[in-house]
Amino acid sequence: MKLILLGAPGAGKGTVAKLLTQLDGSVQISTGDILRAAVAAGTELGKKAEAAMKAGDLVSDDLIMGIMGERLKQDDCKKGYLLDGFPRTIPQAEALKKLLAGMGEKLDCVVNIDVPRDVILDRLTTRRTCTKCNAIYNVKSNPPKKTGVCDKCGGPVVQRDDETEAAISNRLDVYNQKTAPLAGFYEKEGLLMSVNATSSEAVINAIKKRIGMK
Ligand code: AMP
Repeated sequence: MKLILLGAPGAGKGTVAKLLTQLDGSVQISTGDILRAAVAAGTELGKKAEAAMKAGDLVSDDLIMGIMGERLKQDDCKKGYLLDGFPRTIPQAEALKKLLAGMGEKLDCVVNIDVPRDVILDRLTTRRTCTKCNAIYNVKSNPPKKTGVCDKCGGPVVQRDDETEAAISNRLDVYNQKTAPLAGFYEKEGLLMSVNATSSEAVINAIKKRIGMK
C-alpha cells in the first residue's frame, strides 16, 4: 500500500498509519517523527528545524525534500509506505510527484481525514507523546498506566513543545493556509479520498474498501 495521509494536526494520521502498518508490512514515514529525532539528537538537521517546529511553523521545503528523497529509496519502502505529515505544501507535492515518477512508482490514494476543529483542539491539548518510541497517549481517554511513563518502552511521556495552545492555534492556521490546498491538488490527480470520521477504525475500513483489501 502506498498512501498519503492528509489531515490537520490531531486528525489521527499517526494512529491510522500505525494500525495500517500491521495489515501488510507497509512502513509509516512521519516527517515530524524524523525531525523530532534529529532535534533530540542535536544533528545539523535538528538545529535547522528546531525553531520553526517549536513555533508550529513549517520547516523549509528543501530540507524536507532532502530527507524524503533519501528515505523513500530505502529498502523497507519496497513493501509500501504510509506518508504521515508529508507532503505539507504544494511545492512538496509537486516535488514528490517528480520523485515518484523518477522511481517508477505510483500512489494508491491520498486519504484526507476530516475532523471538526473543536475535536482537534481538545485532542491536541490532551495528547501526550513518548519521547523515546513516539507512542501516543491522551490524558483523558488513554493515559499511560503510570503517569509520565510509557507503557511500551518505559520512556518519558510528555506534552510536546508544539502542543501548547499558542503553537496549536498557529499549526492549525498554517495547515489551513498551506496544507489544506493539497486536497484540491490530489483531487485533480484523481487520487483523493475524503473521510469524515473521528474513529480510526472507520477510517481504516474506508481505506481498505477503496484499495480493495479484505
Ligand atoms: P507533525 O508531527 O507531523 O505535526 O510535525 C511536527 C512539526 O514538524 C510541524 O509542525 C513542522 O514544524 C515540522 N514538519 C513535519 N513535517 C513537515 C513537512 N512535510 N513540511 C514542513 N514541516 C514539517
